[in-house]
Amino acid sequence: MARYTGSVCKLCRREKQKLFLKGSKCFSEKCIVEKKNYPPGQHGLSRRSKFSEYGVQLREKQKVKRIYGLLETQFHNNFEKANKQKGVTGENLIKLLERRFDNVIYRLGFAPSRKSARQLIRHRHLLINDQIVDIPSYIISPGDVIKVREKSKTLDLIHNSLKRTKDNVYSWLTIDKASLTGTFLQVPERVDVPLNANEQLIVELYSK
Ligand code: SF4
Repeated sequence: MARYTGSVCKLCRREKQKLFLKGSKCFSEKCIVEKKNYPPGQHGLSRRSKFSEYGVQLREKQKVKRIYGLLETQFHNNFEKANKQKGVTGENLIKLLERRFDNVIYRLGFAPSRKSARQLIRHRHLLINDQIVDIPSYIISPGDVIKVREKSKTLDLIHNSLKRTKDNVYSWLTIDKASLTGTFLQVPERVDVPLNANEQLIVELYSK
């Protein structure tokens, strides 16, 4: 499967903000955005920072796409799904992205980043309703119970990540750290999702 293999920190610099793609490093002084808050490359510092309307919409789409770790086709497919649903397309899009298996694993704190969450899923360390699911894009439904496989319960990555995670931060998720079990209670409302983005700009971009 195609995936982005370049430096993820460059993506943050491109968006001139932290996208939190590297787990604990993002909260440390090693974060490059703290020191170089301008786009990468030879002309990064001098590059024009005033965007056209299209440019603003494009940057917003790129930002959200990168936060959730998707490639263009995957992201656009999610948009198409959201567009077919009832309700506000932009909100539907964010709700869909939040329901992705890799995102839920990250939000539960089983992994320090969505990228690590994808690795855990692909390596078959996780169960949904007692069944192994190795598809990061799998859409979680209300009531689904997510567990770490018995043989994977000693993985340092999971325990180290959980140590840095506060209990039950999100109203739509519960976690029992002792049994390494999480439950997806309901689809979150857009206002509850901690995502600093204007999804309407993405809708406008794709509607052109
Ligand atoms: Fe982005 Fe994290 Fe890298 Fe900082 S450390 S630039 S927040 S991915």
